Amino acid sequence: MKQKIQTLAAKFAADTVAIRRHLHSHPELSFHETETQKFVAAQLSALGLTSQPMADTGLVALIEGKNPGKKVVGLRADMDALPITEANDVPYRSQNPGVMHACGHDAHTASLLGVARILTQLKDEFEGTVKLVFQPAEEKAPGGASLMIRDGVLKNPTPAGMIGQHVAPQIPVGKIGFREGMYMASTDEIYLTVRGKGGHAAMPDSLVDPVLIASHLIVALQQIISRNRPPKSPSVLSFGRVIANGATNVIPNEVSIEGTFRCMDETWRAEGLARIQRMAETLCDSMGGTCEVFIQKGYPYLENHPELTRRLRAEASEYVGPENIVDLDLWMAGEDFAFYSQVVDSCFYRLGTRNEARGITSGVHTPTFDIDEKALEIGAGLMSWLAVRELVSC
Ligand SMILES: [Zn+2]
Ligand SMILES: [Zn+2]
Repeated sequence: MKQKIQTLAAKFAADTVAIRRHLHSHPELSFHETETQKFVAAQLSALGLTSQPMADTGLVALIEGKNPGKKVVGLRADMDALPITEANDVPYRSQNPGVMHACGHDAHTASLLGVARILTQLKDEFEGTVKLVFQPAEEKAPGGASLMIRDGVLKNPTPAGMIGQHVAPQIPVGKIGFREGMYMASTDEIYLTVRGKGGHAAMPDSLVDPVLIASHLIVALQQIISRNRPPKSPSVLSFGRVIANGATNVIPNEVSIEGTFRCMDETWRAEGLARIQRMAETLCDSMGGTCEVFIQKGYPYLENHPELTRRLRAEASEYVGPENIVDLDLWMAGEDFAFYSQVVDSCFYRLGTRNEARGITSGVHTPTFDIDEKALEIGAGLMSWLAVRELVSC
């Protein structure tokens, strides 16, 4: 089976590259993936697969093998691009000004269409069902994954496991990265408005200085990380925007503080957010001011199911060779694949796309991001292999 998949992945490699280039030159922002959705639906239809639209601009399709009810495995690709102007001078550069596939979601979608090509050829040779999940809006709250789940992507049929892959510009092409257990962080946004009473800076005794209160608050909130967080639980609280719009001789009425709280434990996440709210309100009150707290909940933390991840890592090692498997470090960024991981056993692994010799080294979310397209053949073949092997295991 491995041989067959590798042969088909090589046979379809040029198609997969062409699809990726088409998607790359026609990027669409989160929740606006209408042309991408039509394109993917047409590609699936050409393979004899029926797709069902979901979450407005997403879609789902099933590849049924023999005995389709035996087991179901879900494979996920995200399809959205970012508000970035592409700086690469390549034939497939973005044709939508100000929009760019700078996170590799074009590669994820192309790889999953590659899987569709490969596995429709082999459907008499595996048992069970592969569920192809093309989701919108990974890059924007509330995250396309949460809407796909709301609209039933994990039902009828329910996948026993969800598998997602993401390009990795820090990992050389040909290599695959895995990590068991906690991998990526929850991402909540914190908006604090500290209010006092502004006026002439020479008369602080008749005012309530929100700048001083905000300064105390920023320092005090770090205690939640240093004193309340369970020491073994990674966590970050960062404030990147503080606005006190007074002057050298003017104390303003209010100060706004904006930041992010990230962690890898849903229980601690809820407790940490509650503590932030309580401390902000009570500290400001104790200093004579008030604090309005708004928390924009983001993605949950991403947990790679240990047993599923161990199995997939072993199968990937079989497919690409043990020398091409690398360990991933914790990564405090967020990823909406985390929503699936909170509901079903899930594994999110990394597909190496770096090529130093060819100068392909830029990070995701930069205007010069690109991938070594050899990764597409590996991405499509490996994902097909993992799905088939996971269907065999019970
Ligand atoms: Zn991204
Ligand atoms: Zn991404």
